[in-house]
Amino acid sequence: MTENTAQMTALMAAIEDRRCDLIQLTGDLIRIPTLNPPGENYEAICDFLAKRLKASGFEIELVRAYGTPGDSERYPRWNVIARREGKHAGDCVHFNSHTDVVEVGKGWTTDPFGGELIDGKIYGRGACDMKGGLAASIIAAEAFLAVYPDFHGAVEISGTADEESGGYGGVAYLAEKGFFAPERVQHVIIPEPLNKDRVCLGHRGGWWAEIETFGEIAHGSMPFLGDCAVRHMGAVLDKFETDLYPLMASRHTDMPVVPEGARSSTMNINSIHGGMAEQTDDFTGLPAHCVPDSCRVVIDRRFLVEEPLDQVRGEVEALLEGLKADRPKFDYAMTELNSVLPSMTDRNSPIAATVAAEIAHVLGKEAEFVASPGTYDQKHIDRIGKLKNCVAYGPGILELAHKPDEYIGVDDMMDSIKVMARSLVKLLVP
Ligand SMILES: [Zn+2]
Repeated sequence: MTENTAQMTALMAAIEDRRCDLIQLTGDLIRIPTLNPPGENYEAICDFLAKRLKASGFEIELVRAYGTPGDSERYPRWNVIARREGKHAGDCVHFNSHTDVVEVGKGWTTDPFGGELIDGKIYGRGACDMKGGLAASIIAAEAFLAVYPDFHGAVEISGTADEESGGYGGVAYLAEKGFFAPERVQHVIIPEPLNKDRVCLGHRGGWWAEIETFGEIAHGSMPFLGDCAVRHMGAVLDKFETDLYPLMASRHTDMPVVPEGARSSTMNINSIHGGMAEQTDDFTGLPAHCVPDSCRVVIDRRFLVEEPLDQVRGEVEALLEGLKADRPKFDYAMTELNSVLPSMTDRNSPIAATVAAEIAHVLGKEAEFVASPGTYDQKHIDRIGKLKNCVAYGPGILELAHKPDEYIGVDDMMDSIKVMARSLVKLLVP
């Protein structure tokens, strides 16, 4: 591929010309409060995006994810997919952004749905995760289309629901309907806030389960007449400490996960409950004296691409079965709540290599390849869509996501727009 210098210069100028448009667009997106849960204003944001992208020559499809978790007449799960065909056959590059944002929380000094511009930063819930990334991909695509009308293949932009709650009413649904089938889409960029100089290749897996230990209720003054489920759970937690945690800490992945601590397997104990039910704050009575007959924990096990899910599950099961064999009266139930397999794109894949090369070009430094400790919608594109050529790349500082006074830097967005637009040139202009 030879680089047409005059056209590339025109592309960079077209991006600079759109700076005010970018600020307006990012603010407009933030001002549509798409809180999830419960999943508010999905239709409004899809209509807004449809109008914008239709005016830029895209064909629009609006897809409601009927029957997915949370979908109802009051909170319908709407998604928008916009496609612009080139004049010649070629690959399709797809930018996928989630439109939902998490709850506001406390501690804000700016209006969470104001989209205010203060000292080169745009503030609001979702500014960095990830309405700034969505706006950046739109500006990148529009500038590219204006300067390279003769491109090959197609450009797609989607705005999808529910990423923050698992993506079942968004990317998973669209993938099931064939929107990410390899014959339709060849390259995917998810503009999540991974920092403008990093290419995110994938994420670790997750396995969530509830474990319950059983006992027998009796009077608290005579515990020997019953069987304490909390003590049984104590034995489970002790096994975690002595056997499972050291085993997990000894494992290390080749995935470039950031932060460093997430390069080993990890497990959080999300909750524990046993015995008398929690009382409301206005309850002024004293507790009754009973031996608890049930104790439950929810575990959140994050695993590496090197660990099969069967092994992850099997290690916990073996530990529980061991206690059942050794510990008198021990009995348990385990309920799997959800699981997500790890996803990892090869760093030499076309999309990863192209974005990395353009980061080096625009920023004058080597791109860093990273992987995410938690999951995002790449899992559905990989597992359901069977499309491996997918990375996350977008502006914004990862650590600001879900925090008060979340913001996105306009200069960072401009840099990442240049990387995205140059990547379109490399992939769609022979
Ligand atoms: Zn996000």
